[in-house]
Amino acid sequence: MSAPRSDALVFFGASGDLVYKKIFPALYALARRGRLDLPVIGVARSDWTLEQFRARARESIERHGRLDDAAFARLSERLRYVQGEYGDPATFETLRKALGSATRPLYYLAIPPSLFASVVEGLGRSSGAQNARVVVEKPFGRDLSSAQELNATLHRVFDESAIFRIDHYLGKEPVQNILLFRFANAFLEPIWNRRYVASVQITMAESFDVQGRGRFYEEAGAIRDVIQNHMLQVVGFLAMEPPATTYHESIRDEQVKVFRTIRPLRPEDLVRGQYRGYRKEVGVAPDSTVETCAAVRLHIDSWRWDGVPFFIRAGKCLATTTTEVLVTLCRPPLSKLCPGETNYFRFRLSPDVTIAVGARVKRPGEEMDTEPTELRVVHHPDGEEMDAYERLIGDAMEGDATLFAREDAVEAAWAIVQPILGSRTPVHEYECGSWGPREADALTAGVGGWHTPAAG
Ligand code: NDP
Repeated sequence: MSAPRSDALVFFGASGDLVYKKIFPALYALARRGRLDLPVIGVARSDWTLEQFRARARESIERHGRLDDAAFARLSERLRYVQGEYGDPATFETLRKALGSATRPLYYLAIPPSLFASVVEGLGRSSGAQNARVVVEKPFGRDLSSAQELNATLHRVFDESAIFRIDHYLGKEPVQNILLFRFANAFLEPIWNRRYVASVQITMAESFDVQGRGRFYEEAGAIRDVIQNHMLQVVGFLAMEPPATTYHESIRDEQVKVFRTIRPLRPEDLVRGQYRGYRKEVGVAPDSTVETCAAVRLHIDSWRWDGVPFFIRAGKCLATTTTEVLVTLCRPPLSKLCPGETNYFRFRLSPDVTIAVGARVKRPGEEMDTEPTELRVVHHPDGEEMDAYERLIGDAMEGDATLFAREDAVEAAWAIVQPILGSRTPVHEYECGSWGPREADALTAGVGGWHTPAAG
């Protein structure tokens, strides 16, 4: 039986940065595709009129792409604005009235985590949570115990089946493609295991610095910002068992099984780096030991992956901006015929989308010699793709939680990184434009070093 569709969208944090950067463009895209046939209510503290709220939406959409007046009109006529403090019960009464005859609202908490409890309790007190769904933005806590506390706060009012924790990474087309490519091609399954895979590497490189968000970054660091969530989600898709197609929680079940078989990280599996100049950023402590780059080695204790190291390297101010996965296969026996980096699958997730198979072919000529080649499928996004936020808001409205992080997965992912949080290991300085601290080379020494993705 399919879940009933939400009949109103409510955005807490409507005047904030995330709504401006991501949510207005996603709503506009939904309106353009004719999928926004419900009231859209923004709630924030700014003393705005509805016209000012509409003007903010228009400005956001114009800034993030082309605007078609007819499509914008479809969004604009749906917009409502409720002004109020989240700690004030009157805000929730006004919201109830604005919802009118809607009985199954979707609430989107685009607000700092410190405000979650007041909003959730306000909704509970005003009976606004009945038949409702709630979308929660990351971060889902900053360690295992705060994640558990956050989950307890949400559960005081919402059932787990009504909670949609958004990790926009899971909404990205190329990330989903990993899953589809793995399970829609019969040739892959026989070799996708410890017998044929030697190692897996995931690189998430950004060539830019913290871009004025030093204060935010001081609270996060690379491990909390991208490894505990986005990168582990990618590991989950690469490593999971085939999900059954017969029940809707199967993908999330398989994902959490992977997280539970990853050993909690030990200090010797981690190298942290900080780019030169980070301590001079606005909002950053002059003696900060927060990492702007982290490299880790994961061990997965499962029948399929026992002994196959998974490496993640993620950071800012690196040599280029790209996210890439390299699955290196074991060397064929005649190894003198295949020197260097070859026999692999390469998934490039951004900026362009590539699936490539690294192979060797005969070098033309007299000699029985080989040369490397890549069988490659490249897709250049043309701007018409569904953005992750559009997809995920649409899914949440339909009650489809497949691409949202479930409570047990979030907690299992925190359990993996919990032993390495904080400044228990040294932080090594690296130059902007490099591939991070040299000390990280020791982690991959046994598999021939780090893979270096081509420039973005
Ligand atoms: P902002 O600080 O830009 O926005 C906060 C919003 O909350 C504003 O609309 C503000 O209203 C409202 N608000 C704050 N306090 C109150 C209050 N007491 N009563 C009523 N309204 C209040 O936050 P962001 O948009 O940057 O972030 C929102 C969430 O999204 C966070 O959890 C963040 O971690 C997450 N996120 C953000 C990303 C980004 O790029 N910004 C990326 C990924 C996740 P007003 O301004 O009118 O006072």
